[in-house]
Amino acid sequence: MPQVYVAAGSNVEPERHLALAAAELERVFGPVRFSPWYRNKAVGFEGADFINFVVGFETALPVRAVLARLQAIEAQCGRPRDAPKWAPRTMDLDILLYGDRVCEEPGLTLPRPDLLKRPYMLGPLADLAPELAHPTAGATIGELWQRFDRAAHRLVRMEPALTSRHCDRRPPQEPGR
Ligand code: ADP
Ligand code: MG
Repeated sequence: MPQVYVAAGSNVEPERHLALAAAELERVFGPVRFSPWYRNKAVGFEGADFINFVVGFETALPVRAVLARLQAIEAQCGRPRDAPKWAPRTMDLDILLYGDRVCEEPGLTLPRPDLLKRPYMLGPLADLAPELAHPTAGATIGELWQRFDRAAHRLVRMEPALTSRHCDRRPPQEPGR
């Protein structure tokens, strides 16, 4: 079964919406591994800070079925389907990797191109899967994160107490270390 990694982010009541999404991800996909949660500034527009995390799970579902279920969770979190791209959002759930699938189709690009550009995707994924080979970049996720310009966009790891049982309890540190 393919291993799937999904990035979650919110900047509208993010703690509440992410807790809801975390519970739904477990209900819909079964056992899910959670990265720590990170607070960071909005990219691309002025707005409230985001909180982001990444989850990993195995699934027998085809990738389009995974996407449909993620969109249903976004809707449950109050996100309209036609929400503008560069704007505050109650929930954004993006498939970063679906096994080693590479595709560029209407409505689905894999691996997610943002993964190589966005610290709030690459950092938490490096927490979960540092040894994983990126399907097209010719490096592991951990190597890509080590090379990343982390100073340009700070990720602040949240206290476990703020992030419910879904966050692990290691002491604060840089992601991927
Ligand atoms: P973004 O996530 O790029 O900020 P949106 O969430 O508004 O913007 O974009 C949602 C659209 O992106 C969906 O209609 C979906 O079909 C498409 N999409 C393309 N590739 C992916 C992917 N890997 N994971 C999730 N959605 C994707
Ligand atoms: Mg999205």
